[in-house]
Amino acid sequence: MSTTDLTSAPTELDRTIAETDPDVARLIAAERDRQEHTLELIASENHTSPAVMAAMGTCLTNKYAEGYPGKRYYGGCTFHDEIEELARERAKRLFKCQFANVQPHSGAQANMAVFLALLQQGDTFASLVLADGGHLSHGMKLNFSGKYFNAVHYPLIYDLDDPRFEQIDYDAVRDVCMEHKPAMILCGYSAYPRVIDFARFRAIADECGALLMADIAHIAGLVAAGVHPSPFPHAHIVTTTTHKTLRGPRGGLILTNDEDIAKKIDRAVFPGVQGGPLMHVIAAKAVAFHEALQTSFTDYAKQVVANAQALAGALVGKGYRLVSGGTDNHLMLVDLRGKDADLTGADAERWLEQAGIITNKNGVPKDPRKPMYTSGLRLGTPALTTRGLKENELQLVAELIDRVLDAKGDETVCAQVRQDVVDLCERFPMPH
Ligand SMILES: *Cc1c(COP(=O)(O)O)cnc(C)c1O
Repeated sequence: MSTTDLTSAPTELDRTIAETDPDVARLIAAERDRQEHTLELIASENHTSPAVMAAMGTCLTNKYAEGYPGKRYYGGCTFHDEIEELARERAKRLFKCQFANVQPHSGAQANMAVFLALLQQGDTFASLVLADGGHLSHGMKLNFSGKYFNAVHYPLIYDLDDPRFEQIDYDAVRDVCMEHKPAMILCGYSAYPRVIDFARFRAIADECGALLMADIAHIAGLVAAGVHPSPFPHAHIVTTTTHKTLRGPRGGLILTNDEDIAKKIDRAVFPGVQGGPLMHVIAAKAVAFHEALQTSFTDYAKQVVANAQALAGALVGKGYRLVSGGTDNHLMLVDLRGKDADLTGADAERWLEQAGIITNKNGVPKDPRKPMYTSGLRLGTPALTTRGLKENELQLVAELIDRVLDAKGDETVCAQVRQDVVDLCERFPMPH
């Protein structure tokens, strides 16, 4: 197939939308073609199954179901009660915990509900700063978490001679927490390639009298499959998204083993920060949890990590420096300066996109460049693994990335790589 002819056949859904709105139908079809014919390396993205997607496109979106199963503020919720109950039961089974709230519209909404439930305005909490791999809902100044709460940040290890360079500095976490006595310690990140020691965090939380919150938005699928240690029984409260490694619909989820916390969380989600739940999305979460409970999902999660290691190894072999030297999970941060002192994340992201390789620029710890440029590139393997790529193909992906960056985005080289990308995409189609 040529790169100029990338339209796939319209689906029944395309035709239905096109009958009413050809403009939106055309854009959705174009986006599907884009996804179909590019390599998705954004660490927070994935390709859901057709069943997950189908559940979202149903009549469930018509219904108001404010409240919780058995305690709704609207009539006609019989089946919605059953759907939400199924989603909750499956979430609990998947993460081996006692309470689940499946209503948060997103990961940030889930975090907002936790802050509302467990902290008072102005309370101090400890987290990793955005620039070191944290999330904006962990205390960024413009976010509710930084605006209405007092964030103190714990560091990574910045000493080059330390073998744990750029990993969490647990001794310093303890120091920061003993000094500031936060009401809550937040662990779990957006751009951290190493295993998180939840037990160590809990010991620190106990010592300074804080609650421990684990935000496993990125690693939820790995945790569910047992490929990354679980935050339970260490964390008092766990939040996650459902659309990253967990491969479900775009949404949030809150988990705990503490009944008292669970009650506060339910009230904080509704009516605290949300109105009616997105029941079509909750149904899709139930489908995704069902999928994640299968042994095939364990195989998937293992392959995600094996693929990340293959990609990381190949990039290091080509002279790239990875933050912390490598990865234990699904993602890695490439410090582009190790290859070429002038190369920015913004350039790399743009050039790679021209070649059909989709990534995101990302700051590296102590990055001297502004967030719009950055010195790093974040790469993840969840989406490519869903398409069936394995270690050999990830080595090829490393070569394609290197060809583009080595040629500094030369148009001819990008066009050649673009063709190789399309060939690879044709061999490994998106789930249909
Ligand atoms: C992605 C992410 C979130 C937020 O998810 P949204 O659904 O985009 O709101 C929260 N925390 C962490 C650590 C994340 O990586």
